[in-house]
Amino acid sequence: MNEYDSDVIKDMLIKNGFLYTKSPEDADIIIVNGCVVREKPEKKAVEVLKYFKDRGKFTIAAGCIAQKDKDALKSVSNIVIGPMEYDSLVEVIGKDGVYTDFARYRYRFYKYAEKRKDVSFSEYVTIMTGCDNFCSYCVVPFTRGREQSRSVEAIRREVEYLVSKGAVEITLIGQNVNSYFYNGVDFKDLLEKVATVGPQRIRFTTSHPRDISVAVFDVMRKYDNIMPWLHLPLQTGSTRLLKEMRRGYTKEEYIYITKLARKIIPDLTISTDIMVAYPTETEEDFEETLEVVREVQFDYAYMFIYSPRKPSSAYYRYKEQIPREIAVKRHRRLVDTVQEIVTEKRTEMIGKRYRLLIDGYSKKNPNVSRGKTEGNITVVVNEKIPVGTFIDVIIKEVRGTTPVGIVIR
Ligand code: SF4
Repeated sequence: MNEYDSDVIKDMLIKNGFLYTKSPEDADIIIVNGCVVREKPEKKAVEVLKYFKDRGKFTIAAGCIAQKDKDALKSVSNIVIGPMEYDSLVEVIGKDGVYTDFARYRYRFYKYAEKRKDVSFSEYVTIMTGCDNFCSYCVVPFTRGREQSRSVEAIRREVEYLVSKGAVEITLIGQNVNSYFYNGVDFKDLLEKVATVGPQRIRFTTSHPRDISVAVFDVMRKYDNIMPWLHLPLQTGSTRLLKEMRRGYTKEEYIYITKLARKIIPDLTISTDIMVAYPTETEEDFEETLEVVREVQFDYAYMFIYSPRKPSSAYYRYKEQIPREIAVKRHRRLVDTVQEIVTEKRTEMIGKRYRLLIDGYSKKNPNVSRGKTEGNITVVVNEKIPVGTFIDVIIKEVRGTTPVGIVIR
């Protein structure tokens, strides 16, 4: 979402007479659009702001970081601006201040998104912002505000525009896309409307196990251009901890919904987010997480160690944290378990045919192209192929957990 917002901010400023440079050293103004979901990137954002402020640049702290810690950021930034206030950026540049009004609707800002200048083969489209869930560990409701769904017409206009400018892949984004609701249109209806606009590939993220529905799976099955990929954060496999986290589903319900999804959508891949060492997590709780991982057979997972984030409720509620060495050990075991499953799944791809959308090149060898399958699995090809191209490949081997494909068309 920050990537999307950064692109829109860039377009908004260019349209208002500012010049963009890729080199921060050449810039007069530095904008850091920072995320606060994890501790490390937050610290990094502050360091970057300080670095450029000390070198005489006009610095702007934007995004969730601005909303969360406005007072702390004043010493390293001229302007602190939260996501709900981006539309005022043009007017306030040059004036030092804090702009973090929470109750605004971002309509004016999205206007710029609808006609952005640099359109790539793959684009994000925001369909909703904020979240009403208040999961115990999460700061999003405090930094992005309450849920706001964007109008169907605006989303449709943006998708049509992007497709007309050559985008072949559209990813609908929001903190909890499944709870989209605007004037009687829910997420499944919206997904269907976007599918009929005709991008060649449609994805959406992030889903919520409590809010996703069978109706969404049915729409995914109905349209060939909605990709068979579901990112469904698990967080933990322990029903006791899920309750503590206020996630709104049980271990059994999570397993049930993923099995049902795989039954309805052929070739569905499922990815997830899992955290270990949430306060009070016992060995038994952790074992339950491993159990769900084995049962669901995730196609890939983002795994991390819990860190208390102010002002989430968990930050205030728990006085004690799981000791670091235990947290690290559990994380390692989780990574190993997922890795084992992923390796097996990738090996099963050998000899099968996949359609890839090329999205970049290997960092080590620019003549090796990278692309994603419909199920969002990265495959490499030992040929230089332009980004944005669709190719069909047969997987001939797996290196580490990366399948290697031979082009057949
Ligand atoms: S649903 Fe996601 S964004 Fe919303 S509070 Fe929970 S973790 Fe945060």
